[in-house]
Amino acid sequence: MICSGIHAVTGESIAVEFDRVIHSARPTQASLDAPYLAPGFVDLQINGFAGVDFNDPNASLEDIGRALDAILATGVTRCLPTVITGSPDAMCASLRNLARVRHGAIAGFHIEGPHIGPDDGPRGAHPARWVRPPDLDEFARMQDAADGRIRLATVSPHWPESPRYIAALVNAGVTVAIGHTGANKTQIAAAVDAGATLSTHLGNAAPSPLPKFPNLLLDQLAEDRLTAGFIADGLHLDDAFLRVAVRAKGPARTVLVTDAAAPAGMAPGSYRLGELDVDLTADDRVVLAGTSKLAGSALRMDRAIANLMRIAQVPLNGAISAVTTNPARLIRLQGLTNGLAPGDCADLVVFRTLPMRIEAVYLNGERVV
Ligand SMILES: [Zn+2]
Repeated sequence: MICSGIHAVTGESIAVEFDRVIHSARPTQASLDAPYLAPGFVDLQINGFAGVDFNDPNASLEDIGRALDAILATGVTRCLPTVITGSPDAMCASLRNLARVRHGAIAGFHIEGPHIGPDDGPRGAHPARWVRPPDLDEFARMQDAADGRIRLATVSPHWPESPRYIAALVNAGVTVAIGHTGANKTQIAAAVDAGATLSTHLGNAAPSPLPKFPNLLLDQLAEDRLTAGFIADGLHLDDAFLRVAVRAKGPARTVLVTDAAAPAGMAPGSYRLGELDVDLTADDRVVLAGTSKLAGSALRMDRAIANLMRIAQVPLNGAISAVTTNPARLIRLQGLTNGLAPGDCADLVVFRTLPMRIEAVYLNGERVV
């Protein structure tokens, strides 16, 4: 199979020859109406989609598969279904259910919690009664339930146990993110020294109001060993913050996540997120039922790319890196770290811009959209 177009990162006209893997990506004659080509998008944080809650241990394999098919249509070929803070039994049950799903788009799982900040603000919408300190035995039980496929864990560095917990996970090959936290400068530094490499949805789930200095957002922005994830839906972050934060992190340390929940891709109404009731409002906010508190998003990755370009004035190549090679490198996703290079998985997105429009998606060389 051959796909031709403009490489969305390098700007070159290329012809990509592939079956399951990419055999070659050669320069070719430019054509005026050529679409853009990019590697498949990678979403490190997605709680649900198309009415399906990945946290629901009783979600059927068919429904989860249907949600993942809907995610493919947004250009995301690999994602980490994300399980948020819940009881030990509920988190293991959700992971066990997800681990039974056979779908090429699942690259592993993200556990966002339960070892997060207990206070209002840092905790976000996660249920307070299930916040608890890091516990390696519990991690082993979750990893066992997930068939060893937890690849990312979000932890608050404020717990005394955090550095040891982070080091053990990193040593086991799991990427660790700092998030849902009110940690101080020393605690953040200790977490990074222990091996944390990502800030989970930076700018959200933080104490409010924040002191001018010291300030945990600035501490994470200033730390070059941390990549930052952003929810670029135009609702979670102030435009100026997103613009400045992306400049501070630079093109290689910026990652977009959707943090999408079950209402994404659906009509306004009532949905579930773990044990929480959430509402999708008419202006596309996902909030805890009856409140204005954000609880995930209704964002699609193709829109996130367009939003990052518009709000933060990031050029197309930077926005594409933020959803392809940057997240793939962060979790060492084999075959997706080089960006349309020979030997890479044949995950391809064919798209046009202004407006952003996905024309075709290939997963492992098979056309899926
Ligand atoms: Zn979160």
